[in-house]
Amino acid sequence: MKVIKDNYHKSNDESNITCDYCGSELKFEESDVYYGEYGLGKIECPLCGRANNVDGYEIKLTQDNVNYPEHYYHFYETEDSDLQIDERINQEVKECIDYLLTHDDEYFYYVEGKYFVLVYRPDDVGFNVVVSKDFYTTFVEK
Ligand SMILES: [Zn+2]
Repeated sequence: MKVIKDNYHKSNDESNITCDYCGSELKFEESDVYYGEYGLGKIECPLCGRANNVDGYEIKLTQDNVNYPEHYYHFYETEDSDLQIDERINQEVKECIDYLLTHDDEYFYYVEGKYFVLVYRPDDVGFNVVVSKDFYTTFVEK
């Protein structure tokens, strides 16, 4: 006889997880864990290749240990067409400039998950505009 799934010897071991993507049950060791975006612990499913978050594993990112690109969340997947995104970016650039024309802030930015708009004033003559449709972000503690 061969046991397919052992529900009798239920362990409280947190080293068992179910892949969020393909549903496979996985057992992992600490050495399988790596640290991804925002310092969250992850394991890669050996079957579907997708990364799963692992509860209880997290590192605090600081200026000394933060590393690009592994500790950054990469915004790039989108179901919207480039044209729809371009329209929204044009609108956001206008709104950022409108804001800076009526406020004294050094910069203003807009993030919508799929794109990033940053407008800042290097001098009194005008504004520098930075747009990215593919960007990375993380959080570093002081
Ligand atoms: Zn999987």
